Amino acid sequence: MFNLILFGPPGAGKGTQAIKIAEKFGWKHVSTGDILRAEVAQGTPLGLKVKAVMEAGQLVSDELLIEIMESVFVNNKTIKGFVLDGFPRTLKQAKELDAMLAKLGQKVSLVLSLEVNEEELIKRLLNRAREQGRKDDTEEVIKNRLVQYHNHTKPLIDYYKEQKLFKDVYGVGNIDEIFVKLCETIFPSL
Ligand code: AMP
Repeated sequence: MFNLILFGPPGAGKGTQAIKIAEKFGWKHVSTGDILRAEVAQGTPLGLKVKAVMEAGQLVSDELLIEIMESVFVNNKTIKGFVLDGFPRTLKQAKELDAMLAKLGQKVSLVLSLEVNEEELIKRLLNRAREQGRKDDTEEVIKNRLVQYHNHTKPLIDYYKEQKLFKDVYGVGNIDEIFVKLCETIFPSL
């Protein structure tokens, strides 16, 4: 099983590329942001619990995320590979992910990071706000999301670098060209 983590700040293009990668290799795309947004839209107890946190651009609790991911793994035992998009986002989540995968006799295969400068990120997120009307894409909240990334998620880079699992790809430019670079980094012999 190939367990790919697609890593990067909000607005780096993880969602777009994760869908393309999953389609190309027949893997399952798991976006924790999409899972949580669906819960909010359906008004489930979980959705009601996380709505305000998400709309403020804060991180949902590690415990909830770990519960969600546990059920993803339990319900997808025959899958060939996963593209994790938006998880893990904290060191605690990363360690729990290792433990969850170990229970299945698995480990993280590769962490691919999309590198995009902050100015470009803000521009993209504001555009997305206009196009999709995401409540967590206002200027104030975007700044918050980037602060969360710097404080909680960026430290994961060192965690994965130490394990020699981390590779980065420049994420500004043509979507298809970035996709080709990502695929070549996943399987250098392609
Ligand atoms: P995303 O679409 O990945 O940017 O996620 C949207 C929002 O969902 C984030 O700003 C968080 O509030 C929440 N979220 C998604 N994934 C996680 C995670 N792994 N840990 C904590 N909160 C998350």
